[in-house]
Amino acid sequence: MIQSTMQGGNLSLATLVEYSRKSFPEGRVRTWTGSAFRDISFAEIGEQAAQLAHALDGLGVGRGDRVATFMWNNNEHQVVYAAVPSMGAVLHTLNLRLSPEQAVFILNHADDKVILVDASVAPMLSAYVAQAPGVRHVIVVNGPVESFTAPDWVTVHAYDEFIAGQPTTYNWPGDIDERSAAVLCYTSGTTGDPKGVVYSHRSIYLHSLTATSTTGVGLSNRDSMLAIVPMFHVMSWGLPYAVMMCGATMIMPDRFLQPEPLLAMMAEGRPTLAAAVPTIWQGVAARLHAAPQDISHLREVIVGGAAVPHTMIRAFDEFNAPITHAWGMTETSPLGSIARPPAGIDDPEEAFAYRVTQGRFPPLVAGRIVDDEGNELPWDGETSGELEVSGPWITGAYYQPDGNVSAPDKFHDGWLRTGDVATISPDGYMRIVDRTKDIIKTGGEWISSVELENAVMSNPVVLEATVIGVPDAKWDERPFVLAVVASEADADIEAHKAFLADLVPRWQIPERWSFVTEIPKTSVGKFDKKAVRSRYAEGGYEVFGEPAPE
Ligand code: AMP
Repeated sequence: MIQSTMQGGNLSLATLVEYSRKSFPEGRVRTWTGSAFRDISFAEIGEQAAQLAHALDGLGVGRGDRVATFMWNNNEHQVVYAAVPSMGAVLHTLNLRLSPEQAVFILNHADDKVILVDASVAPMLSAYVAQAPGVRHVIVVNGPVESFTAPDWVTVHAYDEFIAGQPTTYNWPGDIDERSAAVLCYTSGTTGDPKGVVYSHRSIYLHSLTATSTTGVGLSNRDSMLAIVPMFHVMSWGLPYAVMMCGATMIMPDRFLQPEPLLAMMAEGRPTLAAAVPTIWQGVAARLHAAPQDISHLREVIVGGAAVPHTMIRAFDEFNAPITHAWGMTETSPLGSIARPPAGIDDPEEAFAYRVTQGRFPPLVAGRIVDDEGNELPWDGETSGELEVSGPWITGAYYQPDGNVSAPDKFHDGWLRTGDVATISPDGYMRIVDRTKDIIKTGGEWISSVELENAVMSNPVVLEATVIGVPDAKWDERPFVLAVVASEADADIEAHKAFLADLVPRWQIPERWSFVTEIPKTSVGKFDKKAVRSRYAEGGYEVFGEPAPE
C-alpha cells in the first residue's frame, strides 16, 4: 500500500482572508453612495478585519459565539465577513426584510450576543432586540449610535470608535477545524419557522473555489462583480468569499436597489458580472426599455433563486448582456447547478434550449430525481421526480440549539430533499418543473405553475405574473393568474387566453385572472405564492373569469 506524500492543509477562512490580503492587496470592494463609489482595498479589509477581531475579543466573543449582522451590501459588511469566521466565531447574517415575528424568532434561536447594524435600519432592529434578552452589544455602522434604541441589557457602540486604535494585524488561530461552523443563515421560511443552515469553513472554501472555476461562475481578477443579491441571502450567493479568492473587484449597491439607481451605479462602475433574482432584472429591463443605456459591459448576468422567464433571457440578449441561469437554495450554499450549453453548440436557438434549463451540476454536487417511494428515476429529460442533492456544501441537517434533529423528513439516505420537482436530460441538464407544493393538480393531471408563468409572461404586455392552484368544484384545482399589465386596456382576459392558445394545451388555459399593480414578494424578492394563496382564500382579489358553480 502506498501512502500519499501530500501535506494536509486547512481550508479555513482565515487562510482565505490572509491570502487575499497578501496576494491581491490592490483588490477592491466598492460601495455605491447614491452618487459615487467609496472604495476599500483588500489590504485595508485585512487590516480592518484584524481591528474588528481585536475589538470583538474585548467584548469576550469566543469560539462558536454568534456575531450577527443586520446590514446592506457594503464595505463594512465585507470586513465583518472577513473577521468573524476567521477569529473562530460564527457570522449570522440577519435578513433585513423578515416579518417582526420571524426576526425575533431567529435572533433568539441563533442566540446572537453581538449585532452589527447599519444605522439606516437600526430603528427596525431596536424593536426586535427589545424582545431578545440574550443580545449584549449592538455596534452601529455608517451613522449615529442614536439611531438604535437600546434596552437596558444592551450596550451600544459606534463602529468607527469601536475599531479605532486596535492593531491592524491579528494572529488568526491556526487550529480552527475546517468542518466547524463559520456562517449561519436562515431559510426564508415560506412554510413554518425559518430553519438554520450552518456553513463550515470547508464548505465555503470549496464553494468559493468552484465559483472562481469555469464550471461555476468563472470569476477572475479581470472581473468586476456586482452583487445585488443581499449579503443576508445565502451569503450573497457566496460571492464575498469568492472575490477574495481570486482578486475580483466587488461592487456593492448598499441600499440603492431600485432599477434607476442600480443603472446609474452600473454606468459608473461598469461591472462585468452581476448577480440577482429575476424580479430585480425584471425591473431593470423595464427601466432599460423606457430609458435605454448600454449595459454590454456585463459579460454575464447570473440569475437564479427563481425560474428565469424565457422572455427575460431574450430581452437581456438584446441588451448584449447574456443571462446565465443557475439554481440553488440556502441549503446548497447556494450553487447547485448552472446552465451553460454543451461544447459544439453554435446555433443560438439550440443553445437557448439549454440556457432556459437550470443546467448541470458542478463538480462536488451530486443530483438525482426520485419518485414518491424514493426510487431513483432515469435521466431521460422526460420523467419528473423530486430533486435530491448531496455534496460537501449541501446541508445534511438544520441547526437546532439543543442538538436535536429538526425536519428529518427533508433528508433521505444522506441526500437533501429539495422540494423541487425536476427532470434531468441524458446529458445532465436539470430542469425544474415546479416546487412540489406549487404544482397544480387538475382533474388527475399536473400543470407546472412555472411553465404557465413563462407562457403568460411571454406576452409583451405582461410585466409580471404568478400562477397558483386554487380550489375548483369540478377539477379539484385550477390555475389562477395574478398579473401586472402595461396598461388598463391590457387587462383583457380573452386576449390573454387567445395568446396562450398557441403556447399551452387547451385544458391548461386558466379561467381565473386578476390584475394588480404589484405582486407580493418574499423577503428575498421572489414572488410570494403563500401570500397570494392566503389573499385569494380571503377573497382579497377581484377575480375575473370565475366559472359559474355547476
Ligand atoms: P432559497 O433558499 O430562498 O434561495 O429558495 C430555494 C428555492 O428557490 C429552490 O428550492 C427553488 O424552488 C427555487 N429556485 C432557486 N433557483 C431557481 C431556479 N433557477 N429555477 C427555479 N427555481 C429556483
